[in-house]
Order: sequence, then structure tokens, then C-alpha cells
Amino acid sequence: MIQLFIPLNFLGFVYREIREALINIERLFGLMDQPPRVVDRPGAGALVADGGAIRFTDVCFGYGPDRQILHQVSFQVPAGHKVAIVGASGAGKSTLARLLFRFYDVDRGSICIHGQDIRDVTQDSLRAAIGVVPQDTVLFNDSIRYNIAYGCPGATEAAVRRAARLAHLEDFIARLPQGYDTVVGERGLKLSGGEKQRIAIARVILKDPPILILDEATSSLDSHSEQAIMGALKAIAHSRTTLAIAHRLSTIQDADHIIVLDQGQVVEQGTHDDLLIRRGIYAGLWESQLRHAVK
Ligand code: ATP
Repeated sequence: MIQLFIPLNFLGFVYREIREALINIERLFGLMDQPPRVVDRPGAGALVADGGAIRFTDVCFGYGPDRQILHQVSFQVPAGHKVAIVGASGAGKSTLARLLFRFYDVDRGSICIHGQDIRDVTQDSLRAAIGVVPQDTVLFNDSIRYNIAYGCPGATEAAVRRAARLAHLEDFIARLPQGYDTVVGERGLKLSGGEKQRIAIARVILKDPPILILDEATSSLDSHSEQAIMGALKAIAHSRTTLAIAHRLSTIQDADHIIVLDQGQVVEQGTHDDLLIRRGIYAGLWESQLRHAVK
């Protein structure tokens, strides 16, 4: 009986691990309960990401046939640059990130990385080249160390500690009762939104991908947490090709380029200063956020 129990118990463990991993990646993009639609093309090769330059060309997309969400969206993110996407809620910002990760295929147009259409490469190689810092990171019921190293199982202790330091987590971990062995997650220590986001940043530092998607938190963080996150983000975004989905404009003033989406269309683009001078949609969003901030 015991002989049978051990392998079954082990299988249960493996099943839970795999299921948790899938849930994690699906939650990143709000895809729970949706069937996978994308398959690798026969003979698809591995992506050669190089610096990770991204180009969206005339991208049209809808989640279903009755409603088009994106209308001929074109923009590029040169290798090593940071481009921010802003716009009202429902404008289609997160949809752009989901398409880049190829959770869905575009209906028309194309998305290329370093000149390769992402439909022509394997999904594994595409996703290996992209790190995601989501709004709400899912933690496993395991140690802080496990949670940081998640996705990089062979990471050394020194690499985990370096990632924690760069993600501004060191002081926080030093104050925990069992340090790196402290169990966090649903049944362990509950972490704040800002702390969870820094865990996600540490994971990306370990993964070291050329491309980064930042889905910046909508909820307001306290200023200490916000500063720690901004510092950590600077550490990872430096020299990576970054697509930042911004809900609060204060976090993206330093972007090389800002794309303003309105109802799935690119309506303005430029630097923060260019866009303020234009006195268009971006300037309006900026003023309304400033008014909100002083209330
Ligand atoms: P927010 O700032 O509120 O996060 P957003 O600009 O990121 O918004 P998206 O999440 O890209 O907006 O959504 C764009 C539109 O697509 C919305 O109208 C939304 O309702 C719709 N949408 C998003 N996900 C799905 C889905 N899985 N199925 C159908 N429609 C969806």
C-alpha cells in the first residue's frame, strides 16, 4: 500500500506543480478558462531575438468576430528602447501585450521581433525571450527563495541573492522570520502588492530576457514601495527592449517614446514633452491625473 501511495502522492505533487505553473502564466494575462488558440507552425524554428527589436505593422484584432478591438496598430520599439502604451481603460493596451506573447494571433497585419514574424517561430522560444512583470504576481505556497527562482530551477543561491538585491528585496527579506526560507503565498505570509511586484522583477532578473513587458500596477502603492519598485524597474529595463503598459503616467515620463491608444487606434505618439505641447488626449490624461493626485 505504502509502495503505491508514494508514487501516487508524487504524481499528485507533479500535477499540482504543473497546474500551478499554468494558472500562473494564464493569470498574468487574465486568460483563465479560455481554450488555447495558437499552435506552432509545422517546422517552426527558434526565435533569434538578438536585441529584441519589436515591430507591430497594421495589426487588427478582435477576441471574437463581432467586435474589433485593435484597428491597424503600427509602432516599433527599437532594440534597447522603452516604449510606453497609454490610454483610457479598455483602449486595448493589455491586448497588445497578449498579442506580443502570442496568446492570440493577429487577424490582419503582423508582429515581428528582430525581423521574424512571431507566427513563424516556436512559442517556447518566443516566450523564453520575453520577461513579464504583471500587475498582480501569483505566488506559490513555498519559500521566498523558491518564488524568486521560479522559472529558473537551476539558479544558484548567489544568483537568487543578486536578483533579490537588484529588485530591492534584500531589506524586506532580512526582516522575515526565516529569511529566504520564509513560506509565502495563500497559506503562508501574505505579501503586499509592491512586494509581490518586486518578486516578479527578481524573477525577470534571473531569467534575463532581451524583451520586457511591464504591466504597471493600477492600484496606488505607498511612496516608499513605489520608489523601491521604480528603482528595481530601472535596474531591469536598462538596455532591454521594453514595452510598458502604463496606467499612471507618472511612471513613464522617462520612456523613449509614448504611444497613445484610443479605442484600439494609435491617435498620438511622441515623447512626454512633445505630447504635452500638442495639448491632445495625452495632455488631457496628464492633467486629469495631476488633479486626481492633489485631491
Ligand atoms: P485597462 O487599462 O482597464 O487594463 P486595457 O486598455 O488594457 O484596459 P484591454 O484589456 O486590452 O484594455 O481590453 C480591450 C478591450 O477588449 C476591452 O473592451 C475588453 O473588454 C476587451 N477584452 C479584453 N479581454 C477580452 C477577452 N478575453 N474576451 C473578450 N473581450 C476582451
